[in-house]
Amino acid sequence: MNARVRDLAGKKFGRLTVKRYKGTDKARNAMWECQCDCGIKRTLRGGSLTTLNTHSCGCHRVYVSKSKASKQVECVETGEVFSSAREASRKLGLGVHRVGYAARRQTKLAGCHWRYV
Ligand SMILES: [Zn+2]
Repeated sequence: MNARVRDLAGKKFGRLTVKRYKGTDKARNAMWECQCDCGIKRTLRGGSLTTLNTHSCGCHRVYVSKSKASKQVECVETGEVFSSAREASRKLGLGVHRVGYAARRQTKLAGCHWRYV
């Protein structure tokens, strides 16, 4: 390994664990083999781990956006569950984005705290 390369082996960035040094790419960036918590291996530039904050193989982002689209929302105080943020927004006469936002942040809207269930 080039002495100028920062040794990242064994370090953990979010869901990614750095396994081993893989040499440099054409632009002479240090490349590292990383393994995500989900099991997927990816070879990433050291710079994307340390400066660009790449902290998963991408699975985490996919998971978050999928769960947003499909999850039911619940009014915490009453326990009333709606099949989606859209349905809740219709009943409340509020914008779907406001309900989705409240559920994501678990903040109060229309007298209830909201959460995804
Ligand atoms: Zn992953």
